[in-house]
Amino acid sequence: MKYISTRGEAPSLSFEDVILTGLAPDGGLYVPEQLPTFSQAEIASWVGLSYQQLAFKIIAPFVAGEISDSDLQAIIDKSYSGFRHDAIAPLVQTAHNEWILELFQGPTLAFKDFALQFLGNLLDHILKKRDQKVVVMGATSGDTGSAAIEGCRHCDNIDIFILHPHNRVSDVQRKQMTSVLTDNVHNIALKGNFDDCQNMLKASFGDQSFLPEGRQLVAVNSINWARIMAQIVYYFYAALALGGPARPISFSVPTGNFGDIFAGYLAKQMGLPIDQLVIATNANDILHRCISDNDHSKKELIHSLSPSMDIMVSSNFERLLFDLYDRDGSAIKQLMEDFKTGSMHLSDKALASARALFSSYRLDDEETIDVIREVFENDEYLLDPHTAIGLQAARKTRRNQDVPMVCLSTAHPAKFPEAVRKAGQDKDPALPHHMADLFEREERFEVLDKDLAAVQKFIASHVRA
Ligand SMILES: *Cc1c(COP(=O)(O)O)cnc(C)c1O
Repeated sequence: MKYISTRGEAPSLSFEDVILTGLAPDGGLYVPEQLPTFSQAEIASWVGLSYQQLAFKIIAPFVAGEISDSDLQAIIDKSYSGFRHDAIAPLVQTAHNEWILELFQGPTLAFKDFALQFLGNLLDHILKKRDQKVVVMGATSGDTGSAAIEGCRHCDNIDIFILHPHNRVSDVQRKQMTSVLTDNVHNIALKGNFDDCQNMLKASFGDQSFLPEGRQLVAVNSINWARIMAQIVYYFYAALALGGPARPISFSVPTGNFGDIFAGYLAKQMGLPIDQLVIATNANDILHRCISDNDHSKKELIHSLSPSMDIMVSSNFERLLFDLYDRDGSAIKQLMEDFKTGSMHLSDKALASARALFSSYRLDDEETIDVIREVFENDEYLLDPHTAIGLQAARKTRRNQDVPMVCLSTAHPAKFPEAVRKAGQDKDPALPHHMADLFEREERFEVLDKDLAAVQKFIASHVRA
């Protein structure tokens, strides 16, 4: 399968090259030239498959001709072997026809493990085959860093460097990253904020001459196509468990960079009957404003109790826009050019299509805390703040009570003790057993000034020969 850029001016690439490339040279994001589709009969025949078997069915067409069936199944099996629950993505019922899809059963307690365990194993496979070594460089405000490190720590051909803003990630998040002591894993605590980390990243991807001979950078943020692709699977998995495809299912998704919910949109395009797709945002609500008022304008970042959704601009939204504008790369290029001023407006047609596909809702911190408290008091089910936003958005926007509503639970509550305490819990939620000793583990990280040369020098000198 070939992959093309949303801005229409970059050469098309194979699957493996897309995974190693990140942003397209024209500034766009890569998407498949043609999305695979499945008939209702074919989807129905998958009832009862394990998560790993289903993942194979869905991912295989995307990698056809490049990765053999047996290699693909092995990559998938390895990626989900470290999950704590045999179902991988278990469903928990919270009300009549309302379900939570627990996507936090992976090694770092956030849904990002679904994509990053897979990406790590995929990179390992591709790099071994090519006898190539790469440097993974990423910036994190919390969950991405730990999931990327867990995904790459066992990869011989990868050295990974993760930048986080010094003293600005939670203790659980920092410990999860910095207590991985293998010699290909490096954490940099930058004396600055998350934006500073991202700027370092951008500059380094733009000019990679600081790297040792023969090395290139690979991106693991959510613009990496493999991450989106791996996330399509759990939409099918949940729908099949709840009577799909014979009946439609709705999903509500706590949304930041638009990667997770975009995978849901793709599932629908590939043939899965999905009724509603709900974009749930915190006070950083650019997507909610866009869908409800055609107001896609940058606003100052608000630090919320759901920090993994604290974004000013959702990068994967461009992939949706590409489809809404009938895959016209020049239209997207123009739109993104307009957006440099800080805002853009969708055409009437694009807005109408977006509204037909998505509902949206926004919650502030106070409302989020109320939801966590209320659901715990009624059901003794403890939500993390991101999931709470998703659940409430589902309840507020739901059109049809007969259609099962699935809320994606993106993190375990133990990752976000501050919100949980504010919701009236008198103890921090317990970490799962495999992490109970997290706070006793030894840490290693390098504190560096907000100085590009210093960061690049650190990286260059720690890449293994
Ligand atoms: C990353 C993250 C999100 C947002 O996902 P996107 O794909 O960026 O929309 C939501 N919740 C948690 C806990 C996350 O880590």
